[in-house]
Amino acid sequence: SQISDTETSGDRHWPRQNSLSLREWDIPFHELELGDPIGQGRFGTVHRGIWHGDVAVRLLNMDQIGDEKVLESFKLEVATFRKTRHENLVLFMGACMNLPTLALVTSMCKGLTLYTHLHLRKDKFSMNKTVIIAQQISQGMGYLHARGIIHKDLKSKNIFLENGKVIITDFGLFSVSKLCKIHGRSDALSIPPGWLCYMAPEVMRSLKPSSEENDELPFTMASDAYAFGTVWYELLCGEWPYKEHCPEAMIWQIGRGMKQSLANLQASRDLKDILMACWAFNVKDRAEFSKLLKILERLPKKRLLRSPSHPVHLSRSAES
Ligand code: ATP
Ligand code: MG
Repeated sequence: SQISDTETSGDRHWPRQNSLSLREWDIPFHELELGDPIGQGRFGTVHRGIWHGDVAVRLLNMDQIGDEKVLESFKLEVATFRKTRHENLVLFMGACMNLPTLALVTSMCKGLTLYTHLHLRKDKFSMNKTVIIAQQISQGMGYLHARGIIHKDLKSKNIFLENGKVIITDFGLFSVSKLCKIHGRSDALSIPPGWLCYMAPEVMRSLKPSSEENDELPFTMASDAYAFGTVWYELLCGEWPYKEHCPEAMIWQIGRGMKQSLANLQASRDLKDILMACWAFNVKDRAEFSKLLKILERLPKKRLLRSPSHPVHLSRSAES
């Protein structure tokens, strides 16, 4: 973000002001030992790798080989990543900043994602643990926001649990992704399952029918808070909101400010209030992470301690 000085020094590839510090984060691709792919996401493939120990390598497939402008934008994003030092954020180790192979290198998360815990393994966390997880997410997110970084893709798939500790990944990746070709991109808007429910109404309303036009969605810190609301909902009941709705219905309803009914969610008022603080329709009414953290810390300890092994769950008995 500070790479504004285009005055070139001896080396035209590195903007002068940042050349030294940014170059320190450059990892020559040949130094990486690339291992098996871990998985493929919307934004390219993540591989196991070895670089002074275990690392995760995200390869960005560039289609415009040799495009210097793309490279400059990539470096700008990298300049942002190196500002992130918090124990609840994945450790950014460096990047391969030479075309045609651009890659981001981070520490390897050893645990499972919140998505795997909640949706695949159907794990139930105690209320106590649920609150601790939410606090740690808020702490990491509060830090990002304090540094002026918007995550843009906060979701349970991008939150790891490592020995009970939250590690948030993929912040700012959405911005990098627009630089590279997304596999299978076409004229039709392809919506990956479980993406829409994290999208704030104002972002939802900006969705365009074709994927190519969706590079500039109006993400803000408030839209990150909305996404956190959805993660909190998943933590509370192990499901995504709107799970029985088709994408078209979700876009229409969420865009107009309708919310997932909480009638069947068996949780106390204060737990539901957190949802409402995150899912507020008006951007101005949405809570900031510093405030969410305070609310989470103030949840009555007694109740949490009394039934540590009783997770809240969906129940037909109407309470609300
Ligand atoms: P989506 O494509 O919807 O964003 P995703 O977050 O699962 O989903 P990627 O972020 O591309 O997709 O990740 C691909 C795979 O690599 C996933 O299984 C993810 O859990 C894993 N992964 C990503 N980053 C790391 C990391 N730092 N350590 C360990 N595994 C990782
Ligand atoms: Mg991810």
